[in-house]
Amino acid sequence: MPFDIEQVLQILEQEVQSYQVPVVDLIAVQTHDPFKVLVATILSARTRDEVTATAAARLFAKAPTSHALAALDENTLQRLIFPVGFYKSKAKYLAALPAILDQEFGGQVPEEIEQLITLPGVGRKTANLVRAQGFGKHAICVDTHVHRIMNIWGYVQTATPLQTEMALRDKLPPQYWIRVNSLLVAFGQGTCRPIGPHCEICLLRSLCPQIGVTPRKRNPTRSDKQDAKQAGIKRMISWNVNGLRAVAKNGFSEIVQDLAPDILALQEIKALPEQLPDSVRELAGFTCYFYPALKKGYSGVAIYSRQTADKVYYGIGDRRFDDEGRVLTLEFGDFYFVNCYFPNSRHDLSRLELKQEFNRAVQGFIEGLVANNKSVVICGDFNVAHTEKDLANPAANVNNAGFTPEERQWMDAYIAGGWIDTFRHYNQEPGHYSWWSYRSRARERNIGWRIDYFFVDPASRARIVSAEILADVQGSDHCPVVLDFRVP
Ligand code: SF4
Repeated sequence: MPFDIEQVLQILEQEVQSYQVPVVDLIAVQTHDPFKVLVATILSARTRDEVTATAAARLFAKAPTSHALAALDENTLQRLIFPVGFYKSKAKYLAALPAILDQEFGGQVPEEIEQLITLPGVGRKTANLVRAQGFGKHAICVDTHVHRIMNIWGYVQTATPLQTEMALRDKLPPQYWIRVNSLLVAFGQGTCRPIGPHCEICLLRSLCPQIGVTPRKRNPTRSDKQDAKQAGIKRMISWNVNGLRAVAKNGFSEIVQDLAPDILALQEIKALPEQLPDSVRELAGFTCYFYPALKKGYSGVAIYSRQTADKVYYGIGDRRFDDEGRVLTLEFGDFYFVNCYFPNSRHDLSRLELKQEFNRAVQGFIEGLVANNKSVVICGDFNVAHTEKDLANPAANVNNAGFTPEERQWMDAYIAGGWIDTFRHYNQEPGHYSWWSYRSRARERNIGWRIDYFFVDPASRARIVSAEILADVQGSDHCPVVLDFRVP
């Protein structure tokens, strides 16, 4: 059956009606001013829409025109646009912009793509967006979502966004050129996510050939349709990165973009915030919370959250653990999110007793949170495989750190208390691991351990939407684990 692009885009038009209007579209509609659309588009790269909107409002209050922008120096611009992603580079671009517009284009924003891409900070994607939204001219803005989804549909077969743009120019009906970007960005951030798309609840399921897609493993529920609503699910990801500086050098921002979390909890960051590159310390689109260990290069946790927390709790009130930066908690409207890096009991089990004390202290802490009548989600590297299904070689590891009877009994008791191991809520099979030794090609051979978890409190069972392990994501000896959690 041929793929009917018009039918699909019309379905999406209906679907995304309830989604928030992208900030650049909004500024275009409100101002009809190509200069403001250009500036907002530059600000919006790698930045959450709410952050772009407030930064743009602050900037336009001082600089509504190119002429007024010329009067602001780079430091002032940095202050006005902070905390948009890459604000220092963007301030530089904006400072240079008025002179170039004056010298090359008579003080006006040009409307041709080839002219727009000569402006500082403007690539092909931005140029297309400005031409479409600022001038209402036919242009196709192809970002990663448009490129990816058009290939999933088999509507194009291309390797790069530029090839996709050229292919769409040939075949996409012109009435969709301007709208397609907004539609597919909203759809790509909501239902058709880069990793773990919600195919099982997607309105396009019967029409989509799902080319190259790995469907999510989950048990659908009756309320799945509601779950497709972007605002109804929070994607939570926990990942022991085993050194954030190393991951930062290997495409951390791109990995996060692909994972598309709403809340990302990291363990073993092994860094102070000031040791991280700007783009990681202030990851665009997120409020970033760090809780490093006092000892440099050791332990430490961090949380990146799209929604700013109502309250932040650093530690659990015990210096032995808090000095090691092990527990960081965010409080939101009706739930707590606890990120925890449990100690390793060490090869010679010399820290086993300390670990057991930590286990009990954390349990007391989260039970105290439950008493506030809010849901509690706790995630992290628990440094224990619970049952024989949770490691590849249980017989060889009895009494080894992470699989001692003491550690396993603690987890038995914890689960007996009603806390839900969300992955096991859906999947009882062995062979699913979240950590592999760097030795002996263990990962390649899947000789691993499942020691990274998402638990929720007993009363919050109905809020679990799905849980999975992203074993294909590289960058650390652990892989990320995921919980999709229902929010009001
Ligand atoms: S069926 Fe899956 S792959 Fe296809 S559009 Fe829907 S979410 Fe994306």
